[in-house]
Amino acid sequence: LVSREVKPDDSIVRVGDLNIGGAAIHVIAGPCSVESREQIVSTAHAVKKAGATMLRGGAFKPRTSPYEFQGLKGDGLALLAEARKETGLLVTTEVKDTATLAAVAEHTDILQVGARNMQNFSLLEAVGETRKPVLLKRGISATIKELLMAAEYIVARGNTQVILCERGIRTFENMTRNTLDLNAIPMLKALTHLPVFVDPSHGIGVRKAVPAMMRAAIAAGADGIIVEVHPDPPRAKSDGFQSLDFSEFEKAMGEVRAIAQAM
Ligand code: PEP
Ligand code: MN
Repeated sequence: LVSREVKPDDSIVRVGDLNIGGAAIHVIAGPCSVESREQIVSTAHAVKKAGATMLRGGAFKPRTSPYEFQGLKGDGLALLAEARKETGLLVTTEVKDTATLAAVAEHTDILQVGARNMQNFSLLEAVGETRKPVLLKRGISATIKELLMAAEYIVARGNTQVILCERGIRTFENMTRNTLDLNAIPMLKALTHLPVFVDPSHGIGVRKAVPAMMRAAIAAGADGIIVEVHPDPPRAKSDGFQSLDFSEFEKAMGEVRAIAQAM
């Protein structure tokens, strides 16, 4: 169902009044985790001013260690809703399991399925039963084919509103957190009609190098970017080492716009 052989023309995912996968590039920006009202609302205002069309922020966080910050959970969803109301930015947040799907779906415009859950087939089927747009992230060691098959699970249940997201894969390289697979962008664009996003933050995991990967993603033909931005990255409760501050984000957005216009 997700193959271009079945549907040759690009699919547009409608999120509010945004057309994702259309002519315009979309940038979803915000912190890895929602931490406080002040943090999420100030970030929402800053990213909107710099040109982001949506806000991101994790409430239910899938952390590698059980001793790390797990997110504000329900309180995080409520803060995200406040930031959405205050700025008019649509939001995306991760749905970690089927138990919290209903609560997350109520507070988000896009359901983010994280890399660690790309092959959680019960979750894929459950989000496939909803009619909410889904941002499906590539698994940490998943092939392009496996990503497409995971999307197939969602679409097969009737939810056609799926955006794919390349977020870096695990390789032998350990200077960077992951290896952003830029190859996946033109490959996916050729294989599927679904929109393709890139997460340069998790893809490289090095703050100073994130803007270069934002530019590269757009140059390679991505339909949009999801990027981590925090008011004070060194003090972030998660992923500060890969989060841009407001001025870094604003500068990177200018560069991204220039590349998008040149294409
Ligand atoms: C995130 O977006 O903060 C996240 C946890 O991403 P991923 O699932 O790609 O690791
Ligand atoms: Mn993160």
